[in-house]
Amino acid sequence: MADLANKINECFPSFNPLNSGFSPGLRVIDNSSDHIFFNLFNKKKDDKSCAQLLDEIVLESFSSLSVTIIASDTSIKNNIATSIAHIHTHDKLLIETIHHAVNVTSMEAELFAIRYSINQAMYIDNISKIIIVTDSIYMVKRIFDLSVYPFQVQSAAVLSDLCYFFNCHANNSIEFWECSSHLKWHLHNEVDKETKMFKPLPLYPCKNPWDFSKKCKSDDILNIWKMTFQSSNLKGNQFLDLVDNDNNIIKPTYVKEGSWLKVFGHSNSLCAHATRAITNHAPIGEFRLRFFSREEFKCPCNQYPIETRCHILHECGRFNEY
Ligand SMILES: [Zn+2]
Repeated sequence: MADLANKINECFPSFNPLNSGFSPGLRVIDNSSDHIFFNLFNKKKDDKSCAQLLDEIVLESFSSLSVTIIASDTSIKNNIATSIAHIHTHDKLLIETIHHAVNVTSMEAELFAIRYSINQAMYIDNISKIIIVTDSIYMVKRIFDLSVYPFQVQSAAVLSDLCYFFNCHANNSIEFWECSSHLKWHLHNEVDKETKMFKPLPLYPCKNPWDFSKKCKSDDILNIWKMTFQSSNLKGNQFLDLVDNDNNIIKPTYVKEGSWLKVFGHSNSLCAHATRAITNHAPIGEFRLRFFSREEFKCPCNQYPIETRCHILHECGRFNEY
């Protein structure tokens, strides 16, 4: 029984920062930004006019056979997520998808529903425009997020599908429309009601195996990051290991944008200086000695023959206020 519980509670990796869909030059958002539209309602707009606008979109799209409208929603009860998507074309509910998953966040379940429905919609004959109506528009925006974040596996799958869809035809496009649940707008409201109708019962109410599984998986991910970084050429020979107040090397983490960036990411110039210091590509004596050996490489403090990074950071009187 314990084995079965462990299996059911297995945690699947959700980070995927090395996926080519997130690489500069291959990102859908860079190459096909004119095929992707986000429509957020101004906070001042009242519910009635938001619903009216959505009605107009529906009327317009139902008159065309090449447009599909997807409404999706998620609800979590007893630690079980239910995500449902309705895919409409030409005034008909063509496909209904229902998925249940244990131990997932509503964000992950919502992303999965969108991922799956895009995948279904793009293969409908002659579809050139996919319209997604969701109450989680800010979560949808994370699909195109370039930082490292949980659920990248879902985002990578969506990006890969969109890439294929846009490559199929130059006119193919996708629109995301915001529709908060309290609007009770009919197409979204139906999905919303349906997700809440389910009352799933957990097979294994004990959460311990899940927490343990999560802990193991996150340790594995961090170890892979560390190993990949140490063994890859990306690190270079001059990389400066940053240490904490107890002189321990700061380890990588995915929490709050990682270990270092949050400290200097707020300022472009500080970030540039820090990057130069970490990679040792800075206009200092040590750098000049390596690349322009005829130039001066002595430290201006005259206390040290070479102006090295180590000297600047730990000894040089010119910077002792730091
Ligand atoms: Zn000095």
